[in-house]
Amino acid sequence: MEGNVVREGKTKILYKEKPGELIMEFKDSITAMNGRLKETIPGKGEVCSKITEIIFSHLEKNGVNTHFISRVSEKKLRVKELEMYPIEVVCRNIAFGSLLKRLPLRSGEELKRPVIEFYYKSDELGDPMLNEDHLAILGVSESEIKEIRGTTLKTNELLKELFRNAGLKLVDFKLEFGKYKSNILIGDEFSPDNFRAWLENRPVDKDLFRMGEGRDTVIKAYLEVLKRLEKVVN
Ligand code: UDP
Repeated sequence: MEGNVVREGKTKILYKEKPGELIMEFKDSITAMNGRLKETIPGKGEVCSKITEIIFSHLEKNGVNTHFISRVSEKKLRVKELEMYPIEVVCRNIAFGSLLKRLPLRSGEELKRPVIEFYYKSDELGDPMLNEDHLAILGVSESEIKEIRGTTLKTNELLKELFRNAGLKLVDFKLEFGKYKSNILIGDEFSPDNFRAWLENRPVDKDLFRMGEGRDTVIKAYLEVLKRLEKVVN
């Protein structure tokens, strides 16, 4: 089992298990600025795998399809093997991060409505933002875009409430999608590496690392998110 590495990225390794399934292993690494900032944080892989499991199970329970199948071990999840779209889908509730470079908003301001953005996953091109014409060139059809938007908005509504119940504010997050037997599912992970969440207006996510905080502060924040989410789903 797990002999064949399908892909190894900055924070995860995918192994082929059997036809149609993969094992997703979460590493203890954390990176920012396109890999230029790098660190190992013992325990981070386990925490991120647990947060992903909680979130994906919650979404499944509420009718949103994800690639999650089951837990394998501390850092490993069994998932469906998807044919991934080469895009990242960002959804925002609060003006922060790169949105402040596009719109005249105050940092931390609540948005009137969620904002969805598409980016092309390409280190070479620096993950540029895409419009619907660009998406068509990449082979993503109008109906697929509509479905991906709908799933992203539903995910946002479900998770905003879940985070609120956990005493956290869901600022924004990134999703990835793929196809499995002609269905569109959420893939990849959902962890503080890919979402922003605030606890009393202080970040408990990868922004701590981006801001130069040490590994103790980062793992403590990730554990706080896990503890709070565990409490509200159980
Ligand atoms: N994000 C991500 N991967 C990326 C870019 C962004 O997971 O390659 C997440 C990020 O953690 C945040 C959200 O998407 O939760 C919006 O990020 P933003 O566009 O504001 O970019 P940043 O300020 O992180 O450069």
